[in-house]
Amino acid sequence: MTPVLPGLIRPEIADLEAYTPIVPLEVLAARLGLPIERIVKLDANENPYGPAPAALAALQHTATYHIYPDPEHTALRAALAGYTGRPSEEILCGAGADELIDLVLRLIINPSDAIIDCPPTFGMYRFDARICGGQVITIPRRPDFSLDLPAIEHAAAQGAKAIFLTAPNNPTGNPLPRADLLRILALPLLVVVDEAYVEFAEPGRLPIGASDLLDHYPNLAILRTFSKWAGLAGLRVGYGLFPRWLIEQLWKIKQPYNVSVAAQAAAIASLEAVAELHQRVQAIVAERERLFAHLQTFPFLTPFPSAANFILCRVEGRDARELKLALERRGVLVRHYRTPLLDGYIRISVGAPAQTDALLATLAEVSQ
Ligand code: PMP
Repeated sequence: MTPVLPGLIRPEIADLEAYTPIVPLEVLAARLGLPIERIVKLDANENPYGPAPAALAALQHTATYHIYPDPEHTALRAALAGYTGRPSEEILCGAGADELIDLVLRLIINPSDAIIDCPPTFGMYRFDARICGGQVITIPRRPDFSLDLPAIEHAAAQGAKAIFLTAPNNPTGNPLPRADLLRILALPLLVVVDEAYVEFAEPGRLPIGASDLLDHYPNLAILRTFSKWAGLAGLRVGYGLFPRWLIEQLWKIKQPYNVSVAAQAAAIASLEAVAELHQRVQAIVAERERLFAHLQTFPFLTPFPSAANFILCRVEGRDARELKLALERRGVLVRHYRTPLLDGYIRISVGAPAQTDALLATLAEVSQ
């Protein structure tokens, strides 16, 4: 549409392709003519068990919804210090890890500054960098989805400001080898390690991920979320572990009331129910292995081993998008990406056993 006031919109936004939002469950159910309970939602890496009972109770018993939330998330950061083993002065919370990605980029990107993006990976680094007017140096992963370290080193030498590394990676599920991370940390870059799925890589214990490196590498930042392991995706709460020189600048640009009263209460209660939530994580990890074994039996799927709560599959001998749509028509939602690197793949989130069974039955149906 022609803008009413020419020149008003920043050109990098005007040229940007709009983000494709997901279709809400009730809209999709109506479109498919299925009741919502019949839909098997395995397309967004959500936790099939939902929030901990303690988090639901906290939501019910919180009495301060009419008061603005604590802008410093004091109680939540104190609880996170216990969970992460890092001082609360190095922890900042956001409305999901998504907000923290945006915040970091808004802090560091001048128009035409560049970040390094290593697809296939999570799309928001690239998207947010471009909203900030930044350039994206794309360094595709190798066929086994490992990082192309020489190309990353070359881009760093050319002046890229930051790199975002997802560990384990979404959507490929592979971990980030320590040796690769150490090589990248030696570069003059801000290294943001996105550990949205780290609990599934280290099931049953407090996650360490890359956090033991924070004291040794002042260019390292780590992002995490309550969306996956704690089942709070709908409440939007994540956090970052940052070096002090960076966090003091991030505080300046954060919206004061970025994490709602509800989100803070539920996150604190989740941290008091870690043992129970980690048991669920272990159940999801066990289910991941069962799902993997079954997926291997379909000749038109090649699943890739995953350290997260989803499995990427290459679709062999048929169209991946068609397969996704055939599953969708039968009420089973999986993810397909219309990008050149992932066009022939689908990503399946790990659900509860009954959801796996429904998926497998539907795959069998569409394989005939
Ligand atoms: N990072 C990665 C790698 C993700 O896959 C996601 C969610 N899909 C996020 C960050 C965003 O998480 P949040 O819900 O905390 O915004």
